[in-house]
Amino acid sequence: MEERGIAVVVEDDDDIRDSLREVLQQSGFAVYPTSTGAEGVEAVRQHNPTVVTVDLGLPDFDGIEASRRIRAFSDAYLIIIMGRLDEADALLSFEAGADDYLTTPFRPRELRARIAAMLRRPRRFHPPQPGALAPAAQLPAALTPAASEPWPAEPLPAGCFAHNGLIVDEGRRTAKIDGRAVNLTRTQFDLLLAILEGGRLVQTRADLVRRVRNETAGATFVSVADEHAIEVHMGNLRKQLADDFRAPRWVETVRGIGYRLGRAR
Ligand code: CA
Repeated sequence: MEERGIAVVVEDDDDIRDSLREVLQQSGFAVYPTSTGAEGVEAVRQHNPTVVTVDLGLPDFDGIEASRRIRAFSDAYLIIIMGRLDEADALLSFEAGADDYLTTPFRPRELRARIAAMLRRPRRFHPPQPGALAPAAQLPAALTPAASEPWPAEPLPAGCFAHNGLIVDEGRRTAKIDGRAVNLTRTQFDLLLAILEGGRLVQTRADLVRRVRNETAGATFVSVADEHAIEVHMGNLRKQLADDFRAPRWVETVRGIGYRLGRAR
């Protein structure tokens, strides 16, 4: 019997809940369906899932609040399910800690692909800790990357990120693509690190301005010129990485919002 991951579905619509459950089960997850925000948060607390889907419109509190509560104690991959695409809701979801969102009606194949991409999202390497994300070996077989040459070939040391052929060492401040060193300015390196750390989480231009300023939190003033400077730095970073903006391996633009990491390949 293959090792299965756990998923929690928080969805008050019976049909959508059933189809989410079906798709996740087919992907190898043991699924705990719930229909209110309170039940959902409690189920996540009890079952420590790898993946959680949260409906935006729930009967007790909304999906954004549910995500915020879940994110307070859980490192699960979180997908917000919304009836129609709304940029403001999407941004709020990301701010609440969601990793991705999906609009209904969704195609099962799309949900499977989204989950697979999220599970490959790079995370800072840490020794396993209680409550930490399950190692790749424990992920459902259907969702692990295609069997091919392992990459990177050797385990990454702490503080390193690896994604689509790029390896970044935070401590040494070095970046390599397929083994070849890439020269980056301080700002380009900081932006690349922010994108790698954020994964599929969209970071607004203002977030990135504050990051480059080395501000950890707060809503300090960000001017239009500051945001424009980020766009210029991102353009130069892309050039240094030889990253194609139409098919980004690393720096993906989310129109009208900001940037995030390209999908794993
Ligand atoms: Ca609903």
